[in-house]
Amino acid sequence: MTIAASIDVVWAAYTAAVGTPDVAGAPDSRAAGCARCGLTTAVMSPVGQVVSRRFTGYESWTNLAGRRLCAVCVWAYRQRPLRTETHIVTQKPPTLTPADSTLLHQVLSTTIDPGTAVIVPLRPGRKHLLPDARWGTVTVDDAQLSWTSADAHRLAVMRRLRAHGFTERMLGDDAPPYAVLRRLPADEWPQVFDDWPRLTSWRRADPWWEVGLRATRQA
Ligand SMILES: [Zn+2]
Repeated sequence: MTIAASIDVVWAAYTAAVGTPDVAGAPDSRAAGCARCGLTTAVMSPVGQVVSRRFTGYESWTNLAGRRLCAVCVWAYRQRPLRTETHIVTQKPPTLTPADSTLLHQVLSTTIDPGTAVIVPLRPGRKHLLPDARWGTVTVDDAQLSWTSADAHRLAVMRRLRAHGFTERMLGDDAPPYAVLRRLPADEWPQVFDDWPRLTSWRRADPWWEVGLRATRQA
């Protein structure tokens, strides 16, 4: 098994942040492989030393026969910034980049490249998100979001409306408030009225809405 063929987001992030993993070859049994990724590194740690008894993220583990975690997965669970900050991970070359709203906006202004993963903790610190991340998606607490060209377009709409002075709370309403409209030149009103309903599907889809807000905040 080559790493390149099976590389997941965690392994790419580790390679970028720490270096090439100290791989120990294919495990001789499933029980010897890492419980999360199935691979082995020179140093392996018992699962109970890494995740707490309240841990609930087993759904994404690929090798539940495993009793230990590899050094790469241990790293992913122990780096607190990975739980609290937005990150962009790329596969080729491996990169791990903390993202402010400007970078997040840049990445989400089009469909996400299949070799890129976007991780956005919506309630920072509560969950380990990197181990659940998938290429070509936005990973938020408890979900992987697709990001279509329609979403990229909605993001542009949201940015345009915010530039007019509508606040995050106002954007959630069904119609633009007159308090802001009356400050705008009349010839800009048609665009606002045109844009407003284009966010309707996001208003009903919390995670996309939250990611959109984060990507359109002033850095
Ligand atoms: Zn592992």
